Amino acid sequence: MVNQENYSKITQQLRSKNAVLVAVSKTKTVQAVKMLYELGQMDFGENYVQELVGKYEELPKDIRWHFIGHLQTNKVKYIAPFVHLIQSVDSVKLLKEINKQGLKNKRIINVLLQVHISNEETKFGWDEKELSDLLSLNQSDLGEMHNIRILGLMGMASFTDHHEQVRNEFRRLKDFYDRYKCLQVPNCSFNTLSMGMSGDYEMAIEEGSTMVRIGSLLFGEREYAK
Ligand SMILES: *Cc1c(COP(=O)(O)O)cnc(C)c1O
Repeated sequence: MVNQENYSKITQQLRSKNAVLVAVSKTKTVQAVKMLYELGQMDFGENYVQELVGKYEELPKDIRWHFIGHLQTNKVKYIAPFVHLIQSVDSVKLLKEINKQGLKNKRIINVLLQVHISNEETKFGWDEKELSDLLSLNQSDLGEMHNIRILGLMGMASFTDHHEQVRNEFRRLKDFYDRYKCLQVPNCSFNTLSMGMSGDYEMAIEEGSTMVRIGSLLFGEREYAK
């Protein structure tokens, strides 16, 4: 159910780089999550709201839940009370809703902005222009969202065997990250660059990732793509 050998290997690789492992448990059972949790894993990622809420209810409350899928504004309220980090924020509308739900729950909700770095149209995320508009210094909307904190960026590289392309996409994301990291943007304190999955996490780490999201190497292949 859990590949312990891969788990030890990956955690060791990440430790020396000070990077965080998010174990992506989508479609996997509560028992599988529990097994990894008992090995010391605290950060788990899900991409469906209903599945996340179900697992949250059944599992230990000190687990840090990351939301990594496409999030509809009308579903933010279900995860707002407990989610640790929403990694897939792709619109101002969503930011505003997360802020509203943060206020309701009297907490500050940490988010990452998902950047579109791949050549695949189907993937969500901000492009360069939208990102710079949002984070530009005279942007006032952000400053009023007191219940969110933007901790950095997340991106998914293209699904391809062309390693150089993937590397270039990671480099672009790292460039954006470095560019905005030092700016005095309201409600932003960049410390997280989430990039790298089972197939490309080693390269992502080489290119400066501070957080990888790994599913199949830990839990085995998923039965169907989600
Ligand atoms: C499914 C998923 C992952 C993990 O994918 P693996 O290839 O199984 O490691 C990482 N990030 C996101 C956004 C995902 O949806």
